[in-house]
Amino acid sequence: MARLLSPPQIDWRDDGTPVARAHDDVYFTAGDGLAETRAVFLQGCGLPEAWAGREVYTVAETGFGTGLNFLALWQLWERHRPSPTARLHFVSFEAFPLHAEDAARALDSWPELEELAALLISRWPGPVKGVRHMVWPEAGISLTLHLGDIREALPAARFRADAWFLDGFSPAKNEDMWGEWIYPELSLHSAPGARLGTFTVAGAVRRGLAGAGFKVSRQPGHGRKRERLEATLETPAQSPPDPRIVPGTVREWSGNGQANTRIAVIGGGIAGASAARALLDAGAEVTVFDKAPEVATGASGNKLALLMPRLDAGDTVQARLLIDAYLAARSAYETLPGVTETDVRQIPKDETDRTRFTKLLADPPLPLEDLESTQNGGLLHKRAMILRPARLIPALLDGATLRLGEKASLDMSNRTVNGEAFDAIILATAMDTTDQLPWLNLTARLGQVEWVGDAADAPPDAVTSGTYALAEGTDRLWGATFEPAPAGVIEVSETARAENAQGLEALSPWWIRDARDHTPVSRAALRATTVDRLPLVGPVPDHAATLDLFDGMKKGRPVNADAPVLPGIFIVNGFGARGFTWGPWAGGILAAMILGGPAPAPADALAAVSPVRLILRALKRGEA
Ligand code: SAM
Repeated sequence: MARLLSPPQIDWRDDGTPVARAHDDVYFTAGDGLAETRAVFLQGCGLPEAWAGREVYTVAETGFGTGLNFLALWQLWERHRPSPTARLHFVSFEAFPLHAEDAARALDSWPELEELAALLISRWPGPVKGVRHMVWPEAGISLTLHLGDIREALPAARFRADAWFLDGFSPAKNEDMWGEWIYPELSLHSAPGARLGTFTVAGAVRRGLAGAGFKVSRQPGHGRKRERLEATLETPAQSPPDPRIVPGTVREWSGNGQANTRIAVIGGGIAGASAARALLDAGAEVTVFDKAPEVATGASGNKLALLMPRLDAGDTVQARLLIDAYLAARSAYETLPGVTETDVRQIPKDETDRTRFTKLLADPPLPLEDLESTQNGGLLHKRAMILRPARLIPALLDGATLRLGEKASLDMSNRTVNGEAFDAIILATAMDTTDQLPWLNLTARLGQVEWVGDAADAPPDAVTSGTYALAEGTDRLWGATFEPAPAGVIEVSETARAENAQGLEALSPWWIRDARDHTPVSRAALRATTVDRLPLVGPVPDHAATLDLFDGMKKGRPVNADAPVLPGIFIVNGFGARGFTWGPWAGGILAAMILGGPAPAPADALAAVSPVRLILRALKRGEA
């Protein structure tokens, strides 16, 4: 199966109605579409009255299409936001994402939505499978878009909707979206009392909903349609426990609501800064502690950094989450200072690379705007980024209270830092976390880069083949090594410098000359890595209680339970050499977990990065 999704062929009727050729059905009816959306979905779900007094409200939709329903809802939210701090989350599913041009043309029919449409279109995602998460902080709106077939994506999604818009094409033309499988999933993904609206009154839909605990009623339809459906969830379904995906929100452990939630982030590197950004954008108050007098002094503190995708040939969870993370990072950094968009030439290191690149290009995981082949059998990554951490990280932290040069002393059971109480605490302290949580078994790798700050002014350029080399203005930077450093000693070495010089030989002659003409300054920093090389993102488990509860796993017995966690204590760590890739994606997950929004990643990805996986893994291997 192709990794990229296929945008639909659209036929345009004379009145401007977009029709999906493959499904032979309309996205909406021109002229009347907005009024119909309001009648069927907004009014059908009792909005705006249903969100009165709510600090967080979640609406989910089957079939994102042109985004018309989303924008109509956004407009209603603008007019009737329950409070200036209230947040609206919209979750939607789409297997055939429209080209941005088609979406823009479709939305052009509604002049009153022009401004909101422009905001959406400027961030319209490409046809890449996965989860795209967008936030408009001032509006208090987030969009979590699951791109892929809803039959896979909905069961894997983690959220609870207060309202549902069922907007697949008509059931007769689009069985995939209305099959019997979907009704229990709607119930599993609903909050108690959830409302639902849809345009169809098909018998199978009514029976499916009723069977899944919804009370269904027919209502007079809009325009030429005789009837529409409204439903309310009376008996919500219970999701089975899953030790790796721990539910819980700030309201549950601290009794505090979403507004004025106070979060402490320990560590002002890219992990802490991106978590802070995501939480600030979601409306929390954030204080960042770092023992150093400045932010970004550890592994995130090189003069330049490279953001480029790591592409695997297979369609594994790991491959997918790396792409989701890369796209999340790109959109998080796009508008910030210290960011230069650039092409990156990736030259194959060896035959294995060559074979991998050929495979990748046969079934590319990113669209042509992002990925091309080069003549020498290499890859050309378009729209990658050269970053200046000294400018980017402070920009990510804009709005946070900074407490620098202050060693944070932590009381995990009382959730205090230096005696001050917080609703939640995030540990983003890389190798420094080892003392508090030794069972994480983090290992340190020493990464050394070479930097020249006074080269001739050059246009941005980036090239990689194992070693990478960056040019931006008068700066040049190349490296990096990745040597085990069991004692955690940070020092630059001649050996590492020689290794970096050798790596440079494989790159362009221009680089080599440039590097030889100057005396580079070496810098080394520790990168924290985990046993399975994936990051740690999520609540900190109660280690002893988890070992007890899951003891049976030593003997291969599965245990169905949620993992016991330290309420309100979270971790983000294990970024290895990819901190700038993982940061924003991990931050989005933490903000959702802490404040209770829809998870911006599917369940298998959440499980793959959950801290408790390390304890379960050790138990299974008899190492605990
Ligand atoms: N709500 C949309 C709007 O505001 O423009 C209109 C939705 S349109 C009637 C139905 C959507 O469902 C189409 O965009 C279609 O591509 C999508 N769709 C159809 N089958 C799907 C599937 N199996 N998984 C995910 N999306 C699907």
